[in-house]
Amino acid sequence: RPAPQLSAIRDHFPILAQTVHGKPLVYLDNAATTQKPLAVLDAMRAFELRDYANIHRGVHALSQRATDAFEAAREKVAAFVHARSADEIVFVRGATEAINLVAQSYTRPRLQPGDEVLVTAMEHHADIVPWQMVCDATGAKLRVAPIRDDGALDLQALPELLGPRTRMLAVTHVSNVLGTVNDVASVAQLAHARGVPVLVDGAQAVAHLPVDVQALGCDFYVFSGHKLYGPTGIGVLWGRAEMLAAMPPYQGGGDMIRSVSFERTTYADPPTRFEAGTPHITGAVGLAAAIDFVQGLGWDAIAQHERTLLERAQSTLSRIPGLRIYGTVPDKIGVISFNIDGLHAHDLGTIADAEGVAIRAGHHCAMPLMKRYGVAAMARSSLGVYNKEDDIDALVRAVRKAQVMFAA
Ligand code: PMP
Repeated sequence: RPAPQLSAIRDHFPILAQTVHGKPLVYLDNAATTQKPLAVLDAMRAFELRDYANIHRGVHALSQRATDAFEAAREKVAAFVHARSADEIVFVRGATEAINLVAQSYTRPRLQPGDEVLVTAMEHHADIVPWQMVCDATGAKLRVAPIRDDGALDLQALPELLGPRTRMLAVTHVSNVLGTVNDVASVAQLAHARGVPVLVDGAQAVAHLPVDVQALGCDFYVFSGHKLYGPTGIGVLWGRAEMLAAMPPYQGGGDMIRSVSFERTTYADPPTRFEAGTPHITGAVGLAAAIDFVQGLGWDAIAQHERTLLERAQSTLSRIPGLRIYGTVPDKIGVISFNIDGLHAHDLGTIADAEGVAIRAGHHCAMPLMKRYGVAAMARSSLGVYNKEDDIDALVRAVRKAQVMFAA
């Protein structure tokens, strides 16, 4: 298959070439999940047709080929995030599982009553609830770093919140609601100066900007394949080698052991220690193909394309009377959450759907952030590489139509 070009990108996504409710599909729900290009679907199908078997077990040819493909995917992910070694890459189900793994295995044993875990006001529930669970179990407290009205993290408030009892700081790289790109390197520096480890939720970052975990200076970085044009059910925990080495297993089972007897079991080294049971082998193959796909497009081309569309959307939407956009920092990525006076976000979403426009409406798994802005819900349009100017115009037409319908 020829290398993808942004100009002909839609040819790689046959799912986009359909009508819904009699209208051409306009897919603007990429922050929820992205569509898969043919290259990803082909790679998964070819693997299942030729090489599929269980990994790390058999001496037979298929098992060796499947193991090679799985481990090659690990190498690809390591290079993608600039890890020092593929041993720092743990395959998990997704960002959610990765955060739970770190919360339970790294943080929980280090929490005493009165200790603190610091998150930010813009976290997704996946980066709140696992920390709340370990705090509840140990008598530790969850603290929250505030954001400014424009959707930027309030960096000035951080030093005071990073106290002698802080045991972990968890922060999103990119907000799934506001589009804010956090200055994670500065946050990590502040935290490390006080001896606090840092987990970065990269779920919304990896499809939009290059990630270098060493330059970011964090200790853990997590993401999901399905927001990067790859499959669901596969995700990544990157952990600094020293951190992973200091962590007990998260789940027990096959594949994660060195030896087992009824008296005593010894565990394998990372990353195997954290990969109990048969993983989503084909998913890892699909994720590797997705990484090739975005790297083939190039970060500069992706950023430029998405910026053009974001600016078009922001300038046209903001001319609609009574429309408020949440998240207005200049260098945000292509997520636009908004509300219109007198109109419920769900009604907006439903009317947009009738026009063929797929957007999300609701709390976006960020109920505390909704509360911060004093709303129950927002409508959200989020961009991917295959969106085009017509998509933005269709969105704006749908929003205007909803406004007219509800004004009547
Ligand atoms: N963090 C953020 C910022 C997200 O947007 C999401 C997905 N909506 C997640 C974490 C959780 O990802 P997953 O559901 O794939 O585990």
